[in-house]
Amino acid sequence: MNLADDEDFQGMPEDVRNEILQAFGGVTRDDLLREEYAHQIEAWRTKGFDVAHIEHLLEEDLPDFRERSARLIRLQVAKRADSGRYRCPLCEVRLESTAEECGNCGARFS
Ligand SMILES: [Zn+2]
Repeated sequence: MNLADDEDFQGMPEDVRNEILQAFGGVTRDDLLREEYAHQIEAWRTKGFDVAHIEHLLEEDLPDFRERSARLIRLQVAKRADSGRYRCPLCEVRLESTAEECGNCGARFS
């Protein structure tokens, strides 16, 4: 979708529309969105997130980018939270990183 197809935009008086189009220099709304999202991706990259998939999303699915990228970032946040813990080498029950003993199988780690 670009400005020419946008209902809000089409509802504006013509001189206002022309002014906006000139200000954007023919840039479409998709272009603006893509730019905004690219900045967001950079911010995530700076924070150490894996953005390879998300960059792909930007090319493949702009309309759903916001929702899908948020889901991918949430997944990564969840994984990181998980890495503060570890699994018992014997029974694979999840343990706090400070655990000295597995409450499930009784293995000791201290
Ligand atoms: Zn165990």
